Order: sequence, then structure tokens, then C-alpha cells
Amino acid sequence: MSVSDITARVRAEETRCGRPEGSVTLIAVSKVQPLDRVEAVLEAGHRVFGENKVQEAQGKWPEFRARFPGTELHLLGPLQTNKARAAVELFDVIHSVDREKLARKLADLAQERGTSPNLFLQVNTGKEPQKAGILPEETDAFVDTCRALDLPVLGLMCIPPVDEEPSLHFALLAKLAARNGLAGLSMGMSADFESAIAQGATHVRVGSAIFGERDYG
Ligand SMILES: *Cc1c(COP(=O)(O)O)cnc(C)c1O
Repeated sequence: MSVSDITARVRAEETRCGRPEGSVTLIAVSKVQPLDRVEAVLEAGHRVFGENKVQEAQGKWPEFRARFPGTELHLLGPLQTNKARAAVELFDVIHSVDREKLARKLADLAQERGTSPNLFLQVNTGKEPQKAGILPEETDAFVDTCRALDLPVLGLMCIPPVDEEPSLHFALLAKLAARNGLAGLSMGMSADFESAIAQGATHVRVGSAIFGERDYG
């Protein structure tokens, strides 16, 4: 589907759920995609993109940004502390804050630079050992830690287990955000973004439905 088709589906779901038009941000996830596909989406007027890796993003986005003003870039993948400086220099929003050491590093960088990307805290709602994110029961304390560090926390992010009903995870994330007074919910991907919007997503992260399948070969 084209980015305008997906945008139309996002707008339609907002309307169906009685949510204000434009209350959901569509992040076009361009990781691993050929540059010509990314360029086509930029040419179509879309300006919000997501990447998984700092290094990969450094390779393509400085040039695209210079050519397409107003581009907003979101980091979705795990962030190593030693890449935090490069990440805050490139990204407008980081969705994968998941441990105190990283939060402290981001706070130091914010102090030094006088500015910080907006942040989501990643929650491992399925408690999967191989997956990043704080556990649901650690969320309240971690939100407090990040707030004490004066970090700009927009909300929570999750990636549900592939073999489970995502809406249960979206509901859990929404509950955790609400009880911490956080408005942002980064949830929903190509297969389930409409369900995520129905559960309150403010940011949906859609890759293959816009760009086609990723070729890792
Ligand atoms: C790759 C990725 C997406 C997009 O996945 P699709 O299924 O292609 O829409 C969304 N969020 C994260 C964190 C990802 O790594």
C-alpha cells in the first residue's frame, strides 16, 4: 500500500474511535529499505520516519534531511549507552529507553546540550527474555526515575510477542501509561495498527505495509 493509503486508514480509525483528527502520528519505518523506496515516500510528502539502528540511520538521514526539510526521525530499536550521543544528535524521538544507565546517560547529554529528544519508555509487556524493555511491574518506578532526571518522557512503547493477541498488550500498556499520567502510547505495527489506535495509540510504527517486505538478504 502507499503511504497515503495507510494515512487514510489511520485517519479513518481515528474517526471511527471518536478521536480527534491527527491525534495519531504515523511513523513510516524505513529500516533496511532501499533508498529509492524511502525517497518515494518523502516525495509523496510524508515526513515522519522510524529507524532501528543508529548507524544505519546515520548513513541515509543527514542527506535526506537536508533535501526534505521538516523531517522528523524516531529511533525504535535498542540503544547502547555508547551510541547515546550519536542518537541524541540525530533523532527527534527515542522510543527504546529501557534502563537506568541509559536514562542517566541521556540526562547527562540533555544537561550538556541544553536539549533532549522526546522519549518513550519501552515496556516488555510479554516478559520475553530476549526482548528489550522494562517489566510491567517495574514501570511505575522507572517512570519516577526518569522524571527525577528531568527527562522529557512522552509515554510508553511496546512490541507484543508475535504469537499472542496484540490487543491484550496494547490494553496493558494503556493502563500503565494512564496510571502514570503519560499521554503517549507508541504501539501498533503493519498488522495491527488499527487495533492499537482503538486502544489509544498516539504513535503507530508501520514499515512493511508502506514500503513492502524488508529484504535482509
Ligand atoms: C520493524 C519495526 C516496526 C515495523 O514493523 P512492520 O511489521 O514492518 O510494520 C515497528 N516497530 C519496531 C520497533 C520495529 O522494529
